[in-house]
Amino acid sequence: TRTPLMAGNWKMNLDWKQGLALVEELGDHLKTVNTDAVEVAVLPPFVDLRTVQVAVEAGKLPISYGAQDISAHESGAYTGEVSGPMLAALGATYATVGHSERRQLHGEDEQVTNAKVKAAFAAGLTPILCVGEPLEERQAGKHVEYTLAQLEGGIEGVSAEQAAKIVIAYEPVWAIGTGEVASADDAQEVCRAIREALRALHGDVVADAVRVLYGGSVKSSNVVELMGKEDVDGALVGGASLKAEEFAKIAGYQ
Ligand code: 13P
Repeated sequence: TRTPLMAGNWKMNLDWKQGLALVEELGDHLKTVNTDAVEVAVLPPFVDLRTVQVAVEAGKLPISYGAQDISAHESGAYTGEVSGPMLAALGATYATVGHSERRQLHGEDEQVTNAKVKAAFAAGLTPILCVGEPLEERQAGKHVEYTLAQLEGGIEGVSAEQAAKIVIAYEPVWAIGTGEVASADDAQEVCRAIREALRALHGDVVADAVRVLYGGSVKSSNVVELMGKEDVDGALVGGASLKAEEFAKIAGYQ
């Protein structure tokens, strides 16, 4: 009985006016979607969060929202960073942690992602911890091992109570922005392995509660097959979340 989660990661796209236009359009398109049966979320750039907050608080759209990153620190001399308490004050539910673009382009390792996961929990936010292997690891048949090491590093020291609330996104690097979606069976294999690793660490209640998303070239044309898999509880959508109609179709896959 996990409520599916469809989260749109806008990445570094759309200024605040374009962001406002997108959420307003999304509000219209989501009228045909049963948002009690599926949770819809957007992860806009920091500068768009206030816009989304105003639209959501005005009752214009039934979604939750969050950030694409979070500082590991609570406050202070960290130029350019945005803290968990700041995000919480904006009504954010989620903080994305360890996206492969952060890992690859900003050198975020397991220690950093672990600190950010803890910073999110400390601020009352739900981390969306992203994990997933590069192409070489998949070709070497090490994709499960590699991904679970990122998972275990990311949630080290997290309590069972916290772990039950986390969202994990399996995003194989080779499928991100490439149009090359993982097969539903490949997605299921790793999403299942993630759930079983959570079971081994924190038991059945946690493993059965945590939502494990798939991300990487998700579109309305492939979401149904992915969502048909037992351990895939939603999607982390990049490019396709920038078009209201397409993202609403993904959200309304049922
Ligand atoms: P695409 O959907 O554009 O492949 O991006 C996936 C992703 O990285 C979402 O976080």
